[in-house]
Amino acid sequence: MNTKQVKEVKALLAKPKKIVIVTHWSPDGDAMGSSLGLYNYLIKKNHKVTVITPNDYPEFLHWLPGNNKAIDFSKKATTAKKIVAGAELIFCLDFNSLKRIDKLGDEIAKSKAIKFIIDHHLQPEDFANYMLHTVNVSSTCELVYDFICLMSDKKLLDKNIGNCLYTGIMTDTGSFRFPSTSAKTHLVVADLMKYGAENAEIHNRIYDDSTEDKIKLLGFSLGEKLTVLKEYKTAFFSLTDKELKKYNYKKGDTEGVVNYALSIKGIRFAAFFVERDGIIKASFRSKGSFNVNLFSRNHFKGGGHANAAGGMSEQSMKETIKKFVSLLPDYKKELNKK
Ligand code: 5GP
Ligand code: MN
Repeated sequence: MNTKQVKEVKALLAKPKKIVIVTHWSPDGDAMGSSLGLYNYLIKKNHKVTVITPNDYPEFLHWLPGNNKAIDFSKKATTAKKIVAGAELIFCLDFNSLKRIDKLGDEIAKSKAIKFIIDHHLQPEDFANYMLHTVNVSSTCELVYDFICLMSDKKLLDKNIGNCLYTGIMTDTGSFRFPSTSAKTHLVVADLMKYGAENAEIHNRIYDDSTEDKIKLLGFSLGEKLTVLKEYKTAFFSLTDKELKKYNYKKGDTEGVVNYALSIKGIRFAAFFVERDGIIKASFRSKGSFNVNLFSRNHFKGGGHANAAGGMSEQSMKETIKKFVSLLPDYKKELNKK
């Protein structure tokens, strides 16, 4: 946003408005943290705000302040449609394409409201009036912090906003270990703590809230399902619907597990395939220059970031894995680059 746009947005937010905040399909910590962080900020400015998610999300995010006011489009489509139709401003957080929000995207596309994108994914689509976008940032939560500062509203930061934004920065940076973590990210987090963010408690709520089944599913995944292809510096594993059921799978139980495959010495490319609602959802992670956003865009109808992306396949699990493995020789040189 340039200076002129900042001025315009400040003017828009100067008087109470009907505002909708939407975020991507299967929201993660950054999606919910940024949406509810922005929600808690905007209600302090006396706006009427509704957070709408395309579908549900893991229970370990339900403690976030304002969560009980959020609406799940997949469960309350009629109510959500009405609220979107009546919105004056719509904020689209943590996604770059209306396809990422499924049927909710049609409602957003139809709406005459002024639209904002706040996001850090590569190649954003051009559907908004205003955009706060860069890929050189840890998370959308960090951008929401920047947005609040741009609005000259740093004084409005508090424990609720701080807890939401800290959550997304922490989850999207793998607890501050990915290269996307900058010196500025640490300064932002320090500032959020100054305003009341409960760092240790947040970590506890997100990462130490596992069920016994979840940990046993992780053990099974790594013990029985992991394949390591040293030649391609690649490790991957998969879980079928049947396997998930055996461990009483709940949403969020496999979040982040792909990183275990990436943590093996020498591995630069990790993939995880999971059967969900009749399709195969893929998660890709890489270290260094191997671009999983491009890999996923080209072969698995997905996208994301250079080192973390997702995609899908409508083939069977067996066929999907066969396809994945058959693609690797084409990338052998790239995967073995220093
Ligand atoms: P995850 O593997 O954790 O589901 O997603 C990794 C990253 O890729 C996240 O930033 C997520 O928003 C993005 N992503 C996941 N699935 C898809 C997809 O199907 N399409 C696109 N464009 N991005 C995705
Ligand atoms: Mn994000």
